[in-house]
Amino acid sequence: MRITEIREIAVPLHGDISNAVVNFSAHRVSLVAVVSDVIRDGAPIVGIGFNSIGRHAQSGILADRMIPRVLSADEQDLLDGHTGLLDPAAVARCALRDEKPGGHGDRAGAAAAIELACWDLLAKYADEPAHATIARAFGAAPATGGVPVYAAGGYYRGENELSALGDEIRGYLGDGYRAVKIKIGGQPLADDLRRIDAAIEVTGAADRVAVDANARFDQTGALAYARALAPYGLRWYEEPVDPLDYQATATVIAEYPGPVATGENLFSRQDAVNLLRYSGIRSDRDILQMDAGLSYGLTEYQSMITEMEAAGFHRTSAMPHGGHLINLHIVVGLGLGGCEAYPGVFAPFGGYSPGCVVRDGIITPADDPGFGLEAKPGLAELITELAKG
Ligand code: MG
Repeated sequence: MRITEIREIAVPLHGDISNAVVNFSAHRVSLVAVVSDVIRDGAPIVGIGFNSIGRHAQSGILADRMIPRVLSADEQDLLDGHTGLLDPAAVARCALRDEKPGGHGDRAGAAAAIELACWDLLAKYADEPAHATIARAFGAAPATGGVPVYAAGGYYRGENELSALGDEIRGYLGDGYRAVKIKIGGQPLADDLRRIDAAIEVTGAADRVAVDANARFDQTGALAYARALAPYGLRWYEEPVDPLDYQATATVIAEYPGPVATGENLFSRQDAVNLLRYSGIRSDRDILQMDAGLSYGLTEYQSMITEMEAAGFHRTSAMPHGGHLINLHIVVGLGLGGCEAYPGVFAPFGGYSPGCVVRDGIITPADDPGFGLEAKPGLAELITELAKG
């Protein structure tokens, strides 16, 4: 197997929504196609990947650095010596040639888009869903019976905030979700508590409502929220402080008895190791949300899972950020704790294809080959365009 071409387009996210820190209206995502020399049904097998949601496209890094490195590599250096097929880890290593360690920023997403496209390519070559390829590659027990999923939303919308939030959550419950996540930190604490009360009223239980501060607070602000949130018994309190401030995270965790979730903005194994070492994060309740699409791809992500397990965590403590098909297949393939969904948000990347079934808070992936991105309306048309070149 040989890579003949790698293409990228920067795709705008639909919608104009905000969390406590970021407005997503100008966000774009790098959609990447890795074209192989394997011809099936008259066309080359093409692997498709992207760099998750919530960060910007990395067109420059891909075009100037990574794609030329991979395309100019010795073919043998990109292959698995046993199978003769592409080795996603080797491709990622090549994409990162001559890059210094540390500083895990946008390049981690750029490399991930290529590496994940290689996994899609391998799964399509085997004519199977990507979770099967992933489970086999890492010796994991796949959760083919489905995995827990929750609806992430509850963004600030301005007018009629509480009634709109209630309607939104009722819609999720009607679609088969049992748990939701809403944003906090974008308005005063008292107003956020009213939003939380409204969400609990609709779901019927506090442990079906998680809240996400998107690293909005300093330590003092995070502690004020921790004290106000503690009596509720919420599902979890997400990203209270800067993701790299492990001491502040530890201070909040020491004050907050319920589950804390964090990690979506850590882009490397080393950052995850530091979180495990220094943040006070607890293996019996807390949630780790690192995201392969933001952190060099599945190979690096699997190394984070290995570190988590070495630190005494069960892999079901991992619930990756980014509610989309790629992470669904990773969660199922590696037997992780669950994934999020963005029904109706972050199109065309967020959410799942029509063949995926959500019932009683459990999602089961469709049987499409690879990540099944071609089966998702909105994304399918872009992939057709990208694959044609
Ligand atoms: Mg979050």
